[in-house]
Amino acid sequence: MNAPAASADVRRSNLSLVLRHVDDCGPCARTEIAAATGLAHASVTAIVADLAGRGLVEEVGAGVSGGRGRPRRLLRVVSGRVWTVAVQVTHDMIRLRATDLSGVTVHTDDRRHGAPFGDPEPVAREIAGTVAGTVERAGGAQLAIVVIAVPGAVIDGKVGHAIGLGWRTTDLAALVAAHLPHVDCPVEVVNEANMAALAEYHALAAQGVKHPDTVVYATAHAGVGGCLLIGGRVHLGSHGMAGEIGHVPVSLDGPPCRCGARGCLTTYLHLRALTRAAGIPEGTGGPGPAAARAELNRRLRAGDERARAALDTAGHALGAALLAVASVTDAGEAILGGHLADWAPWLMPGIDARLAGRRTAIADVGFAVSTGVLGDDATLRGVIHVGREHVLAMPTVVPLSVSPQAGS
Ligand SMILES: [Zn+2]
Repeated sequence: MNAPAASADVRRSNLSLVLRHVDDCGPCARTEIAAATGLAHASVTAIVADLAGRGLVEEVGAGVSGGRGRPRRLLRVVSGRVWTVAVQVTHDMIRLRATDLSGVTVHTDDRRHGAPFGDPEPVAREIAGTVAGTVERAGGAQLAIVVIAVPGAVIDGKVGHAIGLGWRTTDLAALVAAHLPHVDCPVEVVNEANMAALAEYHALAAQGVKHPDTVVYATAHAGVGGCLLIGGRVHLGSHGMAGEIGHVPVSLDGPPCRCGARGCLTTYLHLRALTRAAGIPEGTGGPGPAAARAELNRRLRAGDERARAALDTAGHALGAALLAVASVTDAGEAILGGHLADWAPWLMPGIDARLAGRRTAIADVGFAVSTGVLGDDATLRGVIHVGREHVLAMPTVVPLSVSPQAGS
């Protein structure tokens, strides 16, 4: 690396160091930042000036230091001035949440995209529309990054394969950016189940759950997805498809799957498979998957035997898939997210039955099953976390041109 590039790296990492300290410990004084980071006081002063010029930190009142009673100017992260945008694409919806650096939701936009199966362009156009609407709402605030979660494998920033949407090798970020010539913040694409897994992992840890090294996450919304977390980080695999538990085959001669194989977990755990097995005619309670799911949930709670038997069978399929993943990866925990968390009371007997043999035979190798706590918000919570982390790690993503008065 040449010298200017190396010094730019050092500067960026010092900006990040100081911003993270103010984020964790603010309001705090420059002398405290210098002591905590090991940076010289003069460097801290220069870095704070840079961060203030980007609208990331600001002075707030004055504290009084011990001995001489000299007032200290305290610093904190600015609320409202720098926004990160989280977008979730589902088979029929686009959900957008803009949050400021203090984590407050400042703008929300949920809409149907109406795109035909296999065509990403209308989805890109609709996402760009929601982002353009966010820019209008932002006024003097600055958009730092747009992070888009999709139900498909993502590698090197491109959607490699999204079976549920019918997309193949799609540069969604470029398609969206092409509709936003006047918006120059970066656009990133990530996998939705990976985001939900990260969010649930941290939410459970905050409740005191001690995670093992390797954790498998399984979730169901319209389809079945998953994620493999190693040491708290998403393991992507060779094609961004690691942890896709929905396509673990659980029977040799099971139903054909859209992925080309037979007997995949999703063919047992997919909402349509469950409602069919529960004897719920299509269209009961209204059109669309939400109505079908509501009817299934109503019957489960009412003790309907066919509905409960459908979930029990699905629990066995899920247990078999978890066993397969645990055997290959040595995972010590499974987290059930999305609707699987709601259905856990009816899925768990089947899961436990499948795990019982292994738990007995190799008793010293534990395999815990946890239930997610974030419901439908898990994916967006994870995306918001990633967007915010991006700004904290790379404050230069926000340009220096932000006026100190804007948005206040
Ligand atoms: Zn499959």
